[in-house]
Amino acid sequence: QVPLKPGRSLMDWIRLTKSGKDLTGLKGRLVEVTEDELSKHNKKEDCWICIRGFVYNVTPYMEYHPGGEDELMKAAGTDGTDLFDQVHRWVNYESMLKECLVGRMAVKPIGAPKELKAFAYINFLQQIPEDEIVVYLKTFVTLGVKYVLICPKKVYFFSLLYFLFYSYDWFQTDSSVTIVIYTKQKDMNAELVIVDCQDKRLRGEIIMDDHSYLVEVDLDHAVSEDVAVNISEKVGKVEIILNKKDNVHWKMLGQPWEGHDTFIKRTDRGLFYRKCKLVSKTEVTHDTKLFCLMLPKGTHLRVPTGQHVYLKQIIAGTEVVKPYTPVLPFLPLDFQEPPLHDGVHIYLMIKIYSHGLFTQALDHLQIGDCISVSNPEGNFKKSQVQTSEDLLLLAGGTGFTPMVKLLNFALTEVSCLRTVKLIFFNKTEDDILWRNQLEQLALKDERFEVQFILSQPSKDWVGKQGKISSSLLSEFVKRSRRNSKVLICICGPPPFTEQGVQYLKDLGYSQEEIHAFTA
Ligand code: FAD
Ligand code: NAD
Repeated sequence: QVPLKPGRSLMDWIRLTKSGKDLTGLKGRLVEVTEDELSKHNKKEDCWICIRGFVYNVTPYMEYHPGGEDELMKAAGTDGTDLFDQVHRWVNYESMLKECLVGRMAVKPIGAPKELKAFAYINFLQQIPEDEIVVYLKTFVTLGVKYVLICPKKVYFFSLLYFLFYSYDWFQTDSSVTIVIYTKQKDMNAELVIVDCQDKRLRGEIIMDDHSYLVEVDLDHAVSEDVAVNISEKVGKVEIILNKKDNVHWKMLGQPWEGHDTFIKRTDRGLFYRKCKLVSKTEVTHDTKLFCLMLPKGTHLRVPTGQHVYLKQIIAGTEVVKPYTPVLPFLPLDFQEPPLHDGVHIYLMIKIYSHGLFTQALDHLQIGDCISVSNPEGNFKKSQVQTSEDLLLLAGGTGFTPMVKLLNFALTEVSCLRTVKLIFFNKTEDDILWRNQLEQLALKDERFEVQFILSQPSKDWVGKQGKISSSLLSEFVKRSRRNSKVLICICGPPPFTEQGVQYLKDLGYSQEEIHAFTA
């Protein structure tokens, strides 16, 4: 992010787009753009960019781009889809840039093939003896697999033969319809299954690393709101059980949507949102609140540790999207308690900025109002923590949010863990989130320690002060033993995270020992 000039905020941009001004210079006409034509518009004062086959004149948007003009210019006169997807595919550009639309590309850019039925599945096949693979291959053929690759050299056989057929089936009784998805994934769990059944639309997504399998149909007949999801972890079978509203025989499951029965990269799927109800809003500090949202009845969704969701609101007629990291309702002190993820509520700890576009609108939501919540995203993997002996968490302000579930996970489920230390940077004492709970946790669990560091302390503060620095980090970031396995997680304002990572590297920590939470 770069500082924007006054009068160039997102709200100012929304106002400009509503002003009726001709932002494309084409007086509302849409044109077909050739690659040759696109490439001519590559200057700041005349800049066109293609995203997913649509061409936008982003010249008027330059000064409003939160990432700065230079970032936008990287895609000037070209197809910027990949760049856009890398940086912020969640930004709702169709809505934000609709007044800048010049037209479509004359020749559609070739994207990745959408319909891949069989796909990479290294882990699974690597564990299978070679002769058993033949059996699987036969099964593939019976199931009608479209793509099977067999490599004659054994060394490649195991690494390249990673095609597996994802498939689904369905059956019915008088009162129910069951959809069965065979994932053949051995460590299937509730976090990898996202189901939404609202009205007559059913969407079931199975996550498999950076790919996902989707079943998405308009059901043949109406079903009741409650949906059950059964997961057989060992065999990787997922059952979605729907209750029929009327006792009629279904001729088919339903009409497929475009992405139905596909196994593709997650980034190639659009973000899916469902409406969640605001159940409660409680104060955490003078400017930060804990929002409790309730998932609709027909939704099965668990946000994995270290991942975030996107919230979407319509502000002044434009869809605006921002990421937030779910937390727990409180820091559990007694780790014997059953897990807190009830599968129904999502808790978000959100700082309300006095001039913040999105958080002001959030703060104005009333109990009972609805807000759109996306599927989870993020590149943090629990396995990073599972083998650590020392876990160090560096948080700045609301950068504390990913640390909440992480802390709970580490202290409850990681057996080799010896120490967990949270170094929490805030401006003032009043800004410290869940200070009491953290101090209580430190008293209760001897593995856990918390250190507060203030950048704008009052005169009375006797604790540590300052901003993230090499000397502060060398004082607090230490291994408990000389060679202990350490993981350092860092999250906060982007300059805080960038500087922190650099200092840690300077102190000799490797890339693998550091995880930075970023957008
Ligand atoms: P904005 O309108 O963007 O402005 C916020 C404040 O910064 C305002 O005071 C504004 O004046 C100032 N400002 C904005 N842009 C600039 C600029 N370019 N230069 C100088 N000042 C500027 N936040 C949470 O509270 N909780 C979370 O759990 C959380 N999780 C996140 C997870 C991820 C992966 C990421 C990337 C961010 C997360 N955030 C979280 C931040 C959140 O997404 C929003 O950025 C935040 O809520 C501010 O949104 P806003 O629209 O209200 O503020
Ligand atoms: P804040 O302004 O209250 O600052 C908190 C502390 O961060 C400060 O006391 C200071 O020690 C440090 N800090 C702030 N600016 C700094 C700078 N320029 N250089 C070095 N250190 C600095 O923080 P806030 O308003 O609570 O903002 C939290 C930030 O964390 C937001 O930018 C938000 O987007 C980000 N965040 C990211 C994620 C994620 O997963 N990527 C999750 C939650 C929050």
